[in-house]
Amino acid sequence: MNDVAITRSNFNDWMVPVFAPANFILVRGEGSRIWDQDDKEYIDFAGGIAVNALGHAHPVAVNALTEQAQKLWHIGNGYTNEPVLRLAKQLVESTFADKVFFCNSGAEANEAALKLARKVGLLSGNSEKNHIVAFKNAFHGRTLFTVTAGGQPKYSQDFAPLPGGIEHTAFNDLEAAKALITENTCAVIVEPIQGEGGVLPADIEFLKGLRALCDEKGAVLIFDEVQTGVGRTGSLYAYMNTGVTPDILTTAKALGGGFPIGAMITTDHYANMYAVGDHGTTYGGNPLACAVAGAVFEFINTPEVLDGVKQRHQYFIDALNKINAQYGLFKEIRGQGLLIGCVLKDEHAGKAKNIVTLAGEEGLLALVAGADVVRFTPSLIIPQEDIDEGLNRFTRALARL
Ligand SMILES: *Cc1c(COP(=O)(O)O)cnc(C)c1O
Repeated sequence: MNDVAITRSNFNDWMVPVFAPANFILVRGEGSRIWDQDDKEYIDFAGGIAVNALGHAHPVAVNALTEQAQKLWHIGNGYTNEPVLRLAKQLVESTFADKVFFCNSGAEANEAALKLARKVGLLSGNSEKNHIVAFKNAFHGRTLFTVTAGGQPKYSQDFAPLPGGIEHTAFNDLEAAKALITENTCAVIVEPIQGEGGVLPADIEFLKGLRALCDEKGAVLIFDEVQTGVGRTGSLYAYMNTGVTPDILTTAKALGGGFPIGAMITTDHYANMYAVGDHGTTYGGNPLACAVAGAVFEFINTPEVLDGVKQRHQYFIDALNKINAQYGLFKEIRGQGLLIGCVLKDEHAGKAKNIVTLAGEEGLLALVAGADVVRFTPSLIIPQEDIDEGLNRFTRALARL
């Protein structure tokens, strides 16, 4: 089977057309460099969409994976295992949380959080406490519940009837949120930085206000840190930059460094509102995933790596501002840590995808965040020379535009 010749057109032959991948096929990577079938080299500023926190084929992840692969892959949740408990200990000791639920993706982590919020509402004794407040342009995943919580109707409207009881209001508008959060609200779900929605950070005052409103009305505050978590912003989790502690936090993407895993973390108080049998998943807490995640998490959760993210942030911002002084395409370079968005000026609106395509031709992998923002989410340990070379290639792409 491995000697069957594969081309990009096979994607159109055999794959359900929900994605439109680039017209080349990547075959191998090392650090922040990656090569396609023709051995063309790319610098990776996409990082598998904020996933490959240690780049490609990092020895720490490879060793954890291969060691665990010789021992135990999967046993099912009728039995627990060592890697899952070690990873739970790491998460609990490094965050506000007391308890962890493991799953396989960001959407599943949010699904677990939103279902828990409904259970919290039920146990409150107020039979109408089931409303969830979410924000416009938010992204929380693609299951029916999470895509409905997301604030981009174009992703959910084709799949009606949608789950009820979810209301959306403007991001960063505390007065508007205040009008929606009532005694009947069981949860507010928010990204500390809207990632897919355009790399848009929440104002600290907005998050503080949501915290106060949730406390006042007895609602659970959920931070979706699927994209911002595990060092992405230069702190282990973005909430640590805000002075606001959520009740539930969801994490995935970088958690496994490329191996699929997600988690919902919370306090004892809320964790204990889920009872045996209330929620579950076959693969959640799988030993292979947890062994890799444990090694990746331990590597990232150090002052050296986290400070390195902050230094790289500043380097990126300075360099991008310099490039922009020459080409003038962007009205703002924003974001935190290595979650960076270049926001196109109004007269260039809609061209983010073109820039990413041109960047690919020049040998750079980059992302969009909506139609008007070019997004970079590289490895947290991307070497200096790869940043420089990637920015050279980006400059060439902008020149061609
Ligand atoms: C990517 C993302 C998700 C969904 O994660 P999946 O692993 O694709 O299900 C949810 N929330 C945020 C903020 C994300 O960036």
